[in-house]
Amino acid sequence: MAPPRGKKRKTENSVSLTSQAEETNEIEVEHGSLWFQDGSVVLVAENIGFKVYKGILSQHSEFFQDMFALPQPADGEICEDCPVVRTHDTAKDLLGFLSALHDSMSRYLNHSEILSFDEVSILLRLGAKYQVERMTAEAVRRLKTCFPDKLEDFVNARTDRSLFEAYDKSKFYQTAAISLPFSHCRDVITLAREHDLDSLLPSAFYAYAQMNTEGVVKADTRRIASRMSDADRGRCVDGKFKLKMALRRNLLACLQQVGLDDCLSPQLCLRSKTDRLEYLCHWDVGPWPLMDRSILNIDLAIDFCSVCTTHCNSTYDEKRGETWTNLRKYFDLPPLPAQEPPGGG
Ligand SMILES: [Zn+2]
Repeated sequence: MAPPRGKKRKTENSVSLTSQAEETNEIEVEHGSLWFQDGSVVLVAENIGFKVYKGILSQHSEFFQDMFALPQPADGEICEDCPVVRTHDTAKDLLGFLSALHDSMSRYLNHSEILSFDEVSILLRLGAKYQVERMTAEAVRRLKTCFPDKLEDFVNARTDRSLFEAYDKSKFYQTAAISLPFSHCRDVITLAREHDLDSLLPSAFYAYAQMNTEGVVKADTRRIASRMSDADRGRCVDGKFKLKMALRRNLLACLQQVGLDDCLSPQLCLRSKTDRLEYLCHWDVGPWPLMDRSILNIDLAIDFCSVCTTHCNSTYDEKRGETWTNLRKYFDLPPLPAQEPPGGG
């Protein structure tokens, strides 16, 4: 990649507009993959240029609208007769942003495309930076499909398997809108912090806590995750421990419902209950309190009468719901602001 070469020349405009010969900086840049011959501005990132249209940028971005409304500096850089705007973005990020705006076939704003986390991250970060509201809204929409507000949307038939196999780094948490490895959940947390997307945090912390301890504490030098605060890293370590405690408590609450007055087979159920309690004491449970009932039937292998089984299941569902509600507490996150009652009170 050749560095830009600055060379002075007299522009036709400056000659025609002023009697004094003004000199401007004509530069050369490597052409990026987005380069419209009749474009009207060259955006440069990492010395790669993208020749695009002022009108399209202004239409979608308040940032560029304001920038282009200002008079162009007389000594500004020029590239192929277009003003040059240098950015601090990476070329990859800027290309993604400009593609989303200029290419109607771009995958970025196509709802039928599954985007990678990095692509969604571009929409969120550059959409926010350049004030393109529909771009940030699309990023948030996609992230919410992974980190939703309702338990049934978070753990469902599509996600439960991958959600509880997070220790396997090859597993990707994929929805119809986004695919991301669990290790990227720390980027999600960092981005959510930086963009005030508080509602993503509880389930993002939960997903992040599913990684093994090494994965949780390991320093990540990648750009976004490297900005994660020590406090948030600590929240995850503490939260992982609290999730394990919650699961153990929830399972204990289930077993306490076994062998009550309505039990159909007290002798068998109480003996099995004792076995299961003993097993629970020694079982190194994982941080899975949101796992579905399969943890009772497969992992704890309950074999009670139908009445006790029903009690176990309903208690498990109730406690699991409470755990979802308590995620903010487990990860030391402030409660959401109180919502207005239906009908506006
Ligand atoms: Zn029973």
